[in-house]
Amino acid sequence: MQQGPGFYRRRVGDAVVTVLSDGWLDGSTDIVVGIDDAEKHAVMARHFRKPGPLRLALNSFLIAHNGRLAMVDAGGGPNFNPGTGKAAANLRAAGHTADEIDTVLITHLHPDHILGLLDDTGAARYPNATLRVHAAEHAHWHSDAAKAATPEPFQVFFDAARNVCAAYAGRVALHEDGEVFPGVTALPLPGHTPGHTGYHVRGEEDLLIWGDIFHIPELQARHPQTQIVFDVNPELAAKTRTATLARVAEQRQLVAGMHLCFPAFSHLRADSAGYSLVPELWLAEVF
Ligand SMILES: [Zn+2]
Repeated sequence: MQQGPGFYRRRVGDAVVTVLSDGWLDGSTDIVVGIDDAEKHAVMARHFRKPGPLRLALNSFLIAHNGRLAMVDAGGGPNFNPGTGKAAANLRAAGHTADEIDTVLITHLHPDHILGLLDDTGAARYPNATLRVHAAEHAHWHSDAAKAATPEPFQVFFDAARNVCAAYAGRVALHEDGEVFPGVTALPLPGHTPGHTGYHVRGEEDLLIWGDIFHIPELQARHPQTQIVFDVNPELAAKTRTATLARVAEQRQLVAGMHLCFPAFSHLRADSAGYSLVPELWLAEVF
């Protein structure tokens, strides 16, 4: 049965931020390491998550500001996973066309975040977009030495990153921090990948689009020190996650992420057992 269109809008300062669902990934809690299986399964059961294939949300975002349109990541596209590839249709459902996007802010170059930038022929899906990527991120995935040092099953990630950057040749602009789109600041959150970056949308109430600080929110909110098998630098990823969660909870900052349950806008509450995500109320109007 057909679901309703997967987009949701919210105003942040002078911008309107739209979350686009790209669908879902079927994974497993096996991707989280540094915690024993009994505790892992107990946390998931407490969150009403059944054993078996674990469905993870996959989102991308639009930021509309003063006639310009940026996208933050683009999902995995139709060939990545049976559940992915819905962002392009949801972009149209939200009333936009691919050629309106002038900037794509990349949180990191993992395939579930970037393969949606390609069309079925492997060409750029967004013909007028410049990709904004952290310099360390671009360097890592284009390094033959880094590829050779990576376990063989993960080497395809390098090919995906290189293919996407090649499809946008001449339109890849590197940054490290600072303003990358009107009202939007890049915030390096390294570890998961070397140039993993959050995007801070400034407004009366700030929004941090934090990329992959969480993959399995239920588990990592309770156990921020755990690591993900895809982390390039697992210790740094855990350190960055721990510091980011503490800051976001303390500042009562609004967050959104690529693997937070759609439509993703949430706050983070600290409690005696770690943190909990508190989803924001779904509103039928954009105020
Ligand atoms: Zn991801």
